[in-house]
Formats: sequence, C-alpha cells, structure tokens
Amino acid sequence: MRTANKRIALQRIHRLFRLARVMIHEDEELAQRYIAIAREISMACRIPIPREYKRQICKACKRFILPGVNCRVRIQQRREPHVVITCGYCQKNIRLPTKNQGGENT
Ligand SMILES: [Zn+2]
Repeated sequence: MRTANKRIALQRIHRLFRLARVMIHEDEELAQRYIAIAREISMACRIPIPREYKRQICKACKRFILPGVNCRVRIQQRREPHVVITCGYCQKNIRLPTKNQGGENT
C-alpha cells in the first residue's frame, strides 16, 4: 500500500473514532460499527490504531469503551500508579500506567 493511501486510511480511522465518540450517546450499535470499521481499515492497511484511541478499545472484546458511558475507570495509587478500566461489556479489567500518557482529555 502506498503512503498516500495510508494517510487517507489514517484520516478515516480518526474520523470514525470521532464519530463514534459522538454517536455512542445516541446509537450505541452504530458507534460500535464505526469502531469495527476503523479496526478493519487498520488491519487491512497495516496501520496501528493511534495511541490515544487504543485505550478506547477493550483488549478482550474489542468493543469501543468510553469512560462515563460504558466502562468504569479507577485510579490506583498504590505502588506503580495506574488506571484500571473495567469494560462494561465483558467486565474485563484493563490496566494502564499513568506515566508518560501525555495530555489527553478523556
Ligand atoms: Zn470488553
């Protein structure tokens, strides 16, 4: 795949995630479909899902999870500070270190 195509594919992934974030409040099924499409593009074009979006996909069931909508977020301060996200679909816990996450607005 050519670089130009990859750039277009990445733009589409960004757009799908943006749409999903809005749509999840109105039509959850549609939002999940957007994410499924974004993942398909990512795999077909061999473009990794951008880092800021990775934490919005459950590692276990691959569904779109957004804090305050369909997952629980707890901050664990003991030992290594980390965030624990509990997926609202499969109840699986995803641990994320809080260090080096940069400025994100979730
Ligand atoms: Zn899940």
